[in-house]
Amino acid sequence: MTSHPSTLTRLPVAFRQLQVIHSQRLTPQMQRITLGGEALAGFASPGADDHVKLFFPNAEGAFVLPELTEHGPRYPQGALPSPARDYTPRHHDAEAGQLVIDFVVHGDGPAALWAVQAQAGDALVVAGPRGSFAPADDFDGYVLLGDETALPAIARFLAELPAQAEVQAYIEIPDHGDRQPLEHGDNVHIQWLERGGYPAASSQLLEDALTDIEEPEGDVFYWIACESGRARLMRKFLEGHRQVPKEWIRATGYWKADPTAAD
Ligand SMILES: Cc1cc2nc3c(=O)[nH]c(=O)nc-3n(C[C@H](O)[C@H](O)[C@H](O)COP(=O)(O)OP(=O)(O)OC[C@H]3O[C@@H](n4cnc5c(N)ncnc54)[C@H](O)[C@@H]3O)c2cc1C
Repeated sequence: MTSHPSTLTRLPVAFRQLQVIHSQRLTPQMQRITLGGEALAGFASPGADDHVKLFFPNAEGAFVLPELTEHGPRYPQGALPSPARDYTPRHHDAEAGQLVIDFVVHGDGPAALWAVQAQAGDALVVAGPRGSFAPADDFDGYVLLGDETALPAIARFLAELPAQAEVQAYIEIPDHGDRQPLEHGDNVHIQWLERGGYPAASSQLLEDALTDIEEPEGDVFYWIACESGRARLMRKFLEGHRQVPKEWIRATGYWKADPTAAD
């Protein structure tokens, strides 16, 4: 097996209280929030699938943040912790002092609800990214599969992978209107998979696309992100049926259909 050295870099974690500069409904199911503020100084997101932890105001409208200890995050006793969720820095412009985050408007949940109501001047606390992954740049091909929560990361991969990289991207979205123009190199093939009202948790569009991909020539890196059970099954399919080495797969559950289920 040829070695393709992907890297994972640890980054120092900072908590930054930022302000909403602009909020815009990008597509029917995606709210784009642009954040800024002096605290953004020093922020960096070198990797396409980096994530930050967003902290939202608690039910009392306050930010109650954890202290990071060697035993994990610890919240002040007796206080109501801020809800925290993971999001991809879609775009960072250090010169303009702006950080863009795209939120799927899926209905329920503190993050999705905050995003649809956000107005200029509202505060949000952004922590991280605490690590940054970079796939080796010498694979013969890259296959990216994800639902709409992975669209910000896929958009970044398409823009940031080597310009000549052979890339196939399969992007599952709620409907036709949720397509976005994406910047990409010459050897990129994008397929939009539209659910047309079918629930994201039980759709099979990504799985069908994966099984239909012909055995690619050469060494291929697979990146997968979507509902956690689906991501796990696609990883198993690649490892078990296609005999793809573990190191050539990065499959991540971006959300859980049953948030009480174990990982
Ligand atoms: C590394 C990483 C990067 C991520 N990047 C992004 C990003 O850039 N943009 C983005 O929108 N999301 C992203 N996500 C996914 C996001 O963190 C989850 O969707 C999160 O659960 C949303 O929080 P919430 O408060 O809105 O809903 P929660 O309180 O977590 O969940 C409430 C209910 O909504 C359901 N639910 C949660 N998410 C979805 C969904 N997408 N579709 C349908 N039902 C859902 C849950 O099953 C639950 O029943 C990322 C996740 C990870 C791990």
